[in-house]
Amino acid sequence: MNIHEYQAKELLAKAGLPVPAGHAALTVEEAVEAAKRLPGPLWVVKAQIHAGGRGKGKFAELPAEAKGGVRLAKSIDEVEANAKEMLGNTLVTIQTGDAGKQVNRLYITDGVDIGKEYYLSLVVDRATGWVAMIASTEGGMSIEDVAHETPEKITTIAIDPATGFMPHHGRALAFGLKLTGDLGKQAQKLGKQLYDAFVALDCAMIEINPLAESDGKLMVLDAKMSFDSNAEFRHPEVASLRDESEEDPMEVEAGKHDLAYIKLDGDIGCMVNGAGLAMATMDIIKLNGAFPANFCDVGGGASKEKVAAAFKIILSDPAVKGILVNIFGGIMRCDTIAEGIVAAAREMAIEVPLVVRLEGTNVAEGKAILAGSGLAIIPADDLGDAARKIVAEVKQAA
Ligand code: ADP
Ligand code: MG
Repeated sequence: MNIHEYQAKELLAKAGLPVPAGHAALTVEEAVEAAKRLPGPLWVVKAQIHAGGRGKGKFAELPAEAKGGVRLAKSIDEVEANAKEMLGNTLVTIQTGDAGKQVNRLYITDGVDIGKEYYLSLVVDRATGWVAMIASTEGGMSIEDVAHETPEKITTIAIDPATGFMPHHGRALAFGLKLTGDLGKQAQKLGKQLYDAFVALDCAMIEINPLAESDGKLMVLDAKMSFDSNAEFRHPEVASLRDESEEDPMEVEAGKHDLAYIKLDGDIGCMVNGAGLAMATMDIIKLNGAFPANFCDVGGGASKEKVAAAFKIILSDPAVKGILVNIFGGIMRCDTIAEGIVAAAREMAIEVPLVVRLEGTNVAEGKAILAGSGLAIIPADDLGDAARKIVAEVKQAA
């Protein structure tokens, strides 16, 4: 789960990190109010979307020379004018894709006179199973570019969970950022605070880009934070920060039914059980020259209602030009799947070809339910047969 910059900054400020003052705003009036509560004389108006690269981003509705999603303002009137231009418009950045994201929230924050920008992040390193701190003297730009062009400017520090963040990690961080004296001490303290917050909040990633030096002080100017969803139950305070308008609406709906649903770019909807079968189903669709529009994993032991919900979610995606149901009945019974499909079909018209391949527990009962339903189902004998049939149907309809 991801959160907005302003939310991440509130969490980091609570953990003791140095964050400039700021307030979120949903309307132009709130933006003006927020600016009045800050001292000035420099404000920054920042678009809040779940994507980076906002500063260099462009608004789809504005002329190309208009400013991006992070704007300096020298007066409250300028804050107001910028807020008006940004709210409701679509910001396109290197991370949003071409469609961009609508800006529904702003963050009004103190403008900082930046001396130098640094990069600092924490991620879980899958190779070691430890948290890794990544630091660079090159902040304010894409870390992927730094890694590509000047990898020697990136320091990675692996932190053993048994010891936590030790003073030597702090010294390695300060060294990597080339910070000495008081700034070096600030970096050490900040590194420990950041690591402790990462662990306490069960984060998956924290990225501060840039961490800025201003007037002898280090400051968090941008923050990205995401959380391990498996630990969500431990953090109701974090769960409440979720902004569903930033997520794919069908993935949100699937989450409510405890279904694993992933939206993809193709045109064949896939209902499967188990992640392995999901991967195999997607592979064999691609092998036959088409692409999956999604996959929806109903898992083991799903109820008829859950199967119906899954089927409705797949049907409600206009990109879906055909559906492949590929179920291996083990714990999940084929008759339950069939009942779920029929129940969903009674509520929603199925206007696209539907190929069903069932195998395993109660397969005969399942097939009988589908055959007796009056639905135009194309049965398939095995995985290869199923993939060939759905791809042929979709290509023929196109
Ligand atoms: P993004 O990474 O999405 O482009 P940032 O928050 O990093 O957004 O902002 C882009 C740039 O804007 C930063 O690299 C920094 O130079 C500048 N900036 C951001 N916040 C402030 C601030 N509070 N004061 C001064 N400059 C800022
Ligand atoms: Mg940034």
